[in-house]
Amino acid sequence: MAKIQAIRGMNDILPEQTPIWQFVEAKVRKVLSGYGYREIRMPIVEQTDLFKRSIGEVTDIVEKEMYTFEDRNGDSLTLRPEGTAGCVRAAEEHGLLFNQTQRLWYTGPMFRHERPQKGRYRQFHQIGVECFGMSGPDIDAELLILTARLWQELGLADHTRLEINSIGTSAARRAYREALVEYLSGFRDRLDADSQRRLESNPLRILDSKNPDTQALLTDAPKLDDYLDDESLAHFRRLRELLDAAGIRYTVNPRLVRGLDYYGKTVFEWITDSLGAQGTVCAGGRYDGLVEQLGGKPTDAVGFAMGLERLILLLETLDLVPPGVNNDADVYVTALGDRAVPAALALAETLRTAMPAAKIVTHCGGGSFKSQMKKADRSGARYAVILGDNEIDTATVGLKPLRSDEPQQSLAQAELATTLIPILGA
Ligand code: ATP
Ligand code: MG
Repeated sequence: MAKIQAIRGMNDILPEQTPIWQFVEAKVRKVLSGYGYREIRMPIVEQTDLFKRSIGEVTDIVEKEMYTFEDRNGDSLTLRPEGTAGCVRAAEEHGLLFNQTQRLWYTGPMFRHERPQKGRYRQFHQIGVECFGMSGPDIDAELLILTARLWQELGLADHTRLEINSIGTSAARRAYREALVEYLSGFRDRLDADSQRRLESNPLRILDSKNPDTQALLTDAPKLDDYLDDESLAHFRRLRELLDAAGIRYTVNPRLVRGLDYYGKTVFEWITDSLGAQGTVCAGGRYDGLVEQLGGKPTDAVGFAMGLERLILLLETLDLVPPGVNNDADVYVTALGDRAVPAALALAETLRTAMPAAKIVTHCGGGSFKSQMKKADRSGARYAVILGDNEIDTATVGLKPLRSDEPQQSLAQAELATTLIPILGA
């Protein structure tokens, strides 16, 4: 029978890879909790309308990327393509937004039916951060300072750059949209197919077209910042001052718009030049209108999402995964013969109690000395503990270094932990 395989664009993350994931996740958790952000966990499935009403009907995500299905009751459900909508829904539903401020984060899989390629998958993982009840720009700046610290912690500070822009209020965008459509309509024939389509549906997205001919046409197009309202301009000016004061480097990219409808005022992307076209590792902005759009009271909001696959790909590409990030054991305890089995299990427990940070693997499954030593070697352990009839009779163990030429030594079982602690630093 043909074997069933994973769904295209949905990846297994194998044991070889999970240490890197855990490393990145732990760094993110540490940074976020250091800024007082609290974790929220939402379901992976939501009502389809939630995404239609928040992300926008004429966006790439809603038009062609969502995994939508009918459940057994005939309700239309969707696997979440992003986390903001669900986070707003949950926060509103549980009364977290009324008259208070919130700093929230979440992580988990997201689903988009895109063309799979390097850095772009159909199931991928994001860490998302959402702040509510703060009109900014101080909180906008905090988010960027926080992400800059994360890059520092991950060793990525020199490999990421920040682009920011203001896309103003929806009224300002409406006026600009008209001017842009009028200008681009004169060059309709010279636009690529995607941009022609967007001219009707979502013309602002043409601004971040990757097509050089389209970009050339945009040189003389009306500029979004000429249409910005005073409040958005003042907000953006202040944000830049705050970033300057904090020593965060950025460039203003007047063509930066985001693909989702709910953004307004501040938008930003952290980009790397080391991953080709899939270079955006973190993206976000303000979405002051979204809570109300979803039926809540007007609530200021700002957030971002970062793609974990891209961050991990970046660390691997740049060879920045720290050497200790792996599954290697510290100690492998062998058990030679029946009598050694309970003794090995007990000795390993003693070691784990004495060295809580150490990875200690007990040999299971019997076998010869040679085959147990082979497994010890493959475990990555620095030391094998040799335990057989001889050792049991004399209450000793053999301690064999596996990564150096030092000779094996024999020591009392009672001394094993005190001998290993300083060597392993555990
Ligand atoms: P892109 O322009 O690359 O399509 P996007 O604007 O669709 O990105 P967002 O919806 O803002 O991206 O998601 C935030 C981040 O999530 C992205 O910057 C990226 O790191 C990651 N991301 C988005 N889509 C995917 C995907 N299909 N596979 C892997 N990571 C993704
Ligand atoms: Mg996309």
